[in-house]
Amino acid sequence: MTIQLASLRELQKLDVDIAAARLIVATFDPKIEVIEEPALALESEVTRLRTRLQEVELDERRVELSADEKRVRSKKLEERLTTVRNVREEAAVHAEIDMVRRSLEGAEQEALTLLDQIGRMEERLQESQEALEVAQAEVEPKRDELVGQREAAKIELAGLESRRDLFASGIESRERDTYERILAGGRTVAVADLTEDGACGNCFSVIPLQLQNQILHADDLIRCEGCGVILTPPAAEEPAAEESAVEEPAAEEPAAEEPAAEEPAAEEPAIEEPAAEESAAG
Ligand SMILES: [Zn+2]
Repeated sequence: MTIQLASLRELQKLDVDIAAARLIVATFDPKIEVIEEPALALESEVTRLRTRLQEVELDERRVELSADEKRVRSKKLEERLTTVRNVREEAAVHAEIDMVRRSLEGAEQEALTLLDQIGRMEERLQESQEALEVAQAEVEPKRDELVGQREAAKIELAGLESRRDLFASGIESRERDTYERILAGGRTVAVADLTEDGACGNCFSVIPLQLQNQILHADDLIRCEGCGVILTPPAAEEPAAEESAVEEPAAEEPAAEEPAAEEPAAEEPAIEEPAAEESAAG
């Protein structure tokens, strides 16, 4: 049985690339927020001013209505003056007219104050709206640029993810499951090369010779006893996998002129090992 160790190594490479691509996508949202912030602040200022203006306008209308009522009342009282029967009654009506007129003056004064306030608020609202338009015009190109970059990063990520899915589906499920289980623990490294001097490339624990041989021959899925990663032969033991190797099998080179004598791959000399069968624990 031969284990697809190189494939697991490639799968990990894809996963590392995917994690990096996710980080890149995530960097755009805070940048966009920062750019939008001044315009958003102005927008809420405009909304606040508009609401306040409506409230003051309602107030002003209410005061105007109340002034109108007082004018009507005052007129009625003046009419009553023509029908009073004695001086006492006349004095009482006069007193009431005075009271209504003072109240009317107060309402008219209040209406003027409110109208003045409305005028100033309209000016401020106008200024804020203009500032908002300027800010929005400034923000838009920068924001569009970042949104465009974010979309490109998302497409890049989606491409990596689908490549990864396709690639993973070509790996033996037992091996893939072991790989996934290691990562499920929240780790980022599931596969590490054996170092030239026979140690785990992740935690540098020395790997027993027997296991080193099994790793070099890809006989079985060997995991480091120290850190649990799946161990693969040193990268130099295999033709370095090019970036493109992940995307698609490299296009076959047209055959060289002189047919090179195909030579069966020479068995690489196994690490010198005393023939003694060390008991490889179950
Ligand atoms: Zn290890």
